[in-house]
Amino acid sequence: MVKMQDLDLWLRDKTKAAILNSKEKWKDRKGRLQRKPKWGVTFLGTGGNPEAVLAQRPRTAGFLVEFGDLFMYVDPGPGALQGVLEARVDLGALDAVYISHGHVDHYAGAESIIEGMCWAMSTRRGLLMGPKKVFEDERSISKFHQGETEKYGYLGGPQVVYLEAGSSLTVKGVKLTPVQAYHGTENYGFILEAEGLRLGYTGDTNYILAYSTPDGIQEVKRFGPIMDFRKVERFREDIREAFSRVDVLIANVTSHNAWVHRHITTIGLAHLLRDSQVKLCYMSHFNYCCVEPEDIRFKMAEYVEGMTGIPTGVAQDMGYLDLTPYLKKG
Ligand SMILES: [Zn+2]
Repeated sequence: MVKMQDLDLWLRDKTKAAILNSKEKWKDRKGRLQRKPKWGVTFLGTGGNPEAVLAQRPRTAGFLVEFGDLFMYVDPGPGALQGVLEARVDLGALDAVYISHGHVDHYAGAESIIEGMCWAMSTRRGLLMGPKKVFEDERSISKFHQGETEKYGYLGGPQVVYLEAGSSLTVKGVKLTPVQAYHGTENYGFILEAEGLRLGYTGDTNYILAYSTPDGIQEVKRFGPIMDFRKVERFREDIREAFSRVDVLIANVTSHNAWVHRHITTIGLAHLLRDSQVKLCYMSHFNYCCVEPEDIRFKMAEYVEGMTGIPTGVAQDMGYLDLTPYLKKG
């Protein structure tokens, strides 16, 4: 019996010490938030649509933006937390989580990311930005993770911000302007601006509305792939207007010529970028068809670059895009 009492005491001590250890790691973080301003994008995932979600090829974890003082997670889909652990990202330093729209590849990893941002839901901090529809109508993010935590005995949580197209907000000295996207549900891309640098993110949006074929003009239909494309006849002029003036553009292409009713595609991106001021375009949100049975992503980039003359890259899972060369000096 004495032996059991000793074991009991030993377990109590070990448990207490272990709890203090984990508390220090995730909850008691004061004084450990010194982040140096950085300028870059870390792609934890570059896939999109159900096929990529199911295969995790490319991954569907979204990306992190470090834009001066702002540290923001964009579109944390399935696999987000795994990407964070692999990249050794400190979620407790996040300032914001941005959800462009309520599709699973853009929000389904968000709740665990919010827990990290809010120091295991112990602290009120950070913004949760997205369309009102995602938070109120579809309730894709639980009310707990929207910050209604007190009735569950937690004190922490984010501040929810409903996005509105064209209605800019300033976060950590960065101007963020939501850009209307066209994708079947309330959806916003964005433009970030600070220190003369403009970064655009298209989100998921259609772009081409009608195109010419050898047999005349064709409206974009629900299903692709488009095989008789000659040139763009009608397109989303507001999308081109918004994104042709950024320095660096992250474009969710999805494919070269399919799902055109919902996505930009690379035939659309080549039209958007022509005669634009974009200095670098990075393509992301690749459907599984871009990598299996053959990886055609670099050929897609070659097409866009060849048609526009604008340097076009392929975002890769766990890849980093350095934005410092695009900062305006002086
Ligand atoms: Zn979507």
